[in-house]
Amino acid sequence: MRTKVAIIGAGPAGLLLGQLLHGYGIDNVILERQTPDYVLGRIRAGLLEEGTVALLDQAGVGARAHREGLVHGGIELAFGGARHRIDMKAATNKTVMIYGQTEVTFDLMNARKAAGLSTIYQAAGVEPHDFDTDHPRLSYTKDGVGHEIACDFIAGCDGSHGVSRSSVKPSAIRTFERIYPFGWLGILSETPPVSHELIYTNHARGFALCTMRSTHRSRYYVQCPLDDHIDQWPDARFWEELKLRLDPEAVENLVTGPSIEKSIAPLRSFVAEPMRFGRMFLAGDAAHIVPPTGAKGLNLAASDVHYLSRAFREYYDDKSTAGIDGYSDVALARVWKAVRFSWWMTSMLHKFPDQGEFGARIQLAELNYLVSSRAASTSLAENYVGLPY
Ligand SMILES: Cc1cc2nc3c(=O)[nH]c(=O)nc-3n(C[C@H](O)[C@H](O)[C@H](O)COP(=O)(O)OP(=O)(O)OC[C@H]3O[C@@H](n4cnc5c(N)ncnc54)[C@H](O)[C@@H]3O)c2cc1C
Repeated sequence: MRTKVAIIGAGPAGLLLGQLLHGYGIDNVILERQTPDYVLGRIRAGLLEEGTVALLDQAGVGARAHREGLVHGGIELAFGGARHRIDMKAATNKTVMIYGQTEVTFDLMNARKAAGLSTIYQAAGVEPHDFDTDHPRLSYTKDGVGHEIACDFIAGCDGSHGVSRSSVKPSAIRTFERIYPFGWLGILSETPPVSHELIYTNHARGFALCTMRSTHRSRYYVQCPLDDHIDQWPDARFWEELKLRLDPEAVENLVTGPSIEKSIAPLRSFVAEPMRFGRMFLAGDAAHIVPPTGAKGLNLAASDVHYLSRAFREYYDDKSTAGIDGYSDVALARVWKAVRFSWWMTSMLHKFPDQGEFGARIQLAELNYLVSSRAASTSLAENYVGLPY
């Protein structure tokens, strides 16, 4: 088989890239090691920047998001028992949209199917080869039979444990990492959200976040020790702990119910540099991970794909390599700003084992400053709604 761009991974990055390239008339194939149902079953991100929504529109898959997504003009910060709203719309004239990653993936998968584009699910042992030459290729096994795809470029959209990044020789790549000393215990429940907008809570017992996927489906998180196991967290214990951290109004309005998903995710920041290796390019979680506090993971995958799809279009339409040559630097400049923002939000809102009373007071001083200074709240707002591409 031969294609122009061979994409590894059918997560949001790979599927969105495939759809944008299709829009530019650039032939592509996606190889995914899981089944479509498995990919759709992963409950992950749920907040889209306007830039991400615009990309979904460009890819021709934004209609359902506009119909069903919830548009938010602000967030609330809760500390010291009270809530304070940051009016992001007033500060930036931009909003964010609640629309689950599973829905984005579902819409992209359907569009790909409708366009008759090739996605090979359950592709085992995918390996990129010769990406430092002009003739890269991918090998994989499907139903026990070995196959090869020859291509012009490889796009590594295969997430943090994918094969693309690990195929690069160690001397060609540099990585930067921060591991946080706690995790997020999250549950999804068929209950109405406690509030119209997200509530980020700094509390002496640890961080809590109230978010949602729709008007009838809520997502709640509490900070927990890294070595906790979900078996230690029956639903009743989760709701009890959440109530201990929320402000009185939220406790009163909270509707509890059985969890339909429950998981513990460790938090880390990670960046790999560069994001291009000859004719192989990394995009999304394959290149970087952020703690979910700033809601940036999925949005960064989208901005990478924006730069990469335009770079390929320039290559094929304008016969220019400027876009692909500049891809890594341009993408990383935006990535590092989101890494900084996610790290800052995480540092300000969580309880750290070594922070002591001094550290807790500094956090409260920063939060008080944020909600009382227009300059500080505007800075939060413009990062939260997404920096320009
Ligand atoms: C548990 C969890 C919770 C999260 N929660 C949030 C959140 O609340 N908010 C937020 O903003 N972000 C969150 N994120 C981050 C967000 O979901 C990711 O940033 C986003 O999924 C990135 O998309 P991606 O396409 O780059 O990677 P992925 O979604 O990881 O997709 C990569 C795809 O590649 C496939 N793949 C991997 N290896 C291979 C291989 N060798 N061959 C073929 N295919 C392969 C995988 O099966 C997968 O389908 C969360 C992430 C995780 C893991």
